[in-house]
Amino acid sequence: MINVTKSYLPDLDDYVGYLKGIWERVHLTNNGPLLQELEEQLKNYLGVKHLFFCSNGTVVLQMAIKAMNITKEVITTPFSYCATTHTIIWEQCTPVFADILPSDYTIDPAQIERVITEDTEAILATHVYGNACQIEAIQKIADKHHLKVIYDGAHTFGANYNGQSLLSYGDVSTCSFHATKVFHTVEGGIIICHDDALAEKLSLYRSFGHRNDDYFDIGINAKNSEFHAAMGLCVLPKVPDLIAARKERFSWYDAQLNWDKLSKPAQAEGLDYNYAYYPITFTTEAELLAARDALNEVKIFPRRYFYPSLNTLPFIQAYGSRSNQPCPVSEDMSLRVLCLPMYPDLDRTDVDRICTIINKSF
Ligand SMILES: *Cc1c(COP(=O)(O)O)cnc(C)c1O
Repeated sequence: MINVTKSYLPDLDDYVGYLKGIWERVHLTNNGPLLQELEEQLKNYLGVKHLFFCSNGTVVLQMAIKAMNITKEVITTPFSYCATTHTIIWEQCTPVFADILPSDYTIDPAQIERVITEDTEAILATHVYGNACQIEAIQKIADKHHLKVIYDGAHTFGANYNGQSLLSYGDVSTCSFHATKVFHTVEGGIIICHDDALAEKLSLYRSFGHRNDDYFDIGINAKNSEFHAAMGLCVLPKVPDLIAARKERFSWYDAQLNWDKLSKPAQAEGLDYNYAYYPITFTTEAELLAARDALNEVKIFPRRYFYPSLNTLPFIQAYGSRSNQPCPVSEDMSLRVLCLPMYPDLDRTDVDRICTIINKSF
């Protein structure tokens, strides 16, 4: 069976080495030494000042919204994983969808401007598939209208834009370290910001809002454990090799798929990509379904990322009519995009087989 992703597991002896230290110290969670070491290594790797390792890539989005006192409308992309929208609603804000660009499937700055109102407080955009949003245009709009910018960078680990980590942009950037992502800690995520006061708030929010007997604010439990940090310390040194292996598999797909019938999202200029996903776009949904069914028949399971377009989720209407904007580009793309299997040890023969099946399915 071949799935769309496969988790990377490091050498078991490396992990056991860290476990021995945990057994000696009996410090399992709550800002332990492995967590602190991972945070230091991540700050160096990503070149950012404030970074907090948390329990997942969803709670960090909630923390971002709450820490910046956002309570009204958040303009967001309909073409992302559902967590992007859900966190906005979970934090009692209203998601207002702005359609995506047909070229690279990231949020369209012109559409953002079109839906801004007096109640707009923030933009929450996703660097889809690890591709960069229109960062300069989005920042310009945010500056003009005094909006906060949050990037859901769940797909971006290891990607750089104009020589800096893609996670260093916006007021806040987040990343998921879920087992299926380019870099993972089994479960986990980070939140990155630049402002010292905001960082202090986020650090408190992660751990119930208090330090010892000093209570500062409400908080949540978004802490992560030494066991998760240990996995991160094992996987982080391998990231360059993992990305190189993905890149090679990209080139195999690129060389063999029939591009007369397919297209791919464009990549932003200035992007040093992490090869997180391999999305292909069919001419019609019927062609996508035919290819998917042919693959499923031989136990190959690509995924419809992202489907459905989030503005059409069945429960969205309950959250106000402004959440229910039509987004024709996203609705169309979500019917025609399929992510093919992509992971560092995917076999060449399997890529060949997948390409043959897809090319024959039209
Ligand atoms: C994976 C993902 C998330 C959620 O991350 P978790 O760590 O699974 O909570 C959020 N947004 C996007 C775009 C994702 O792909």
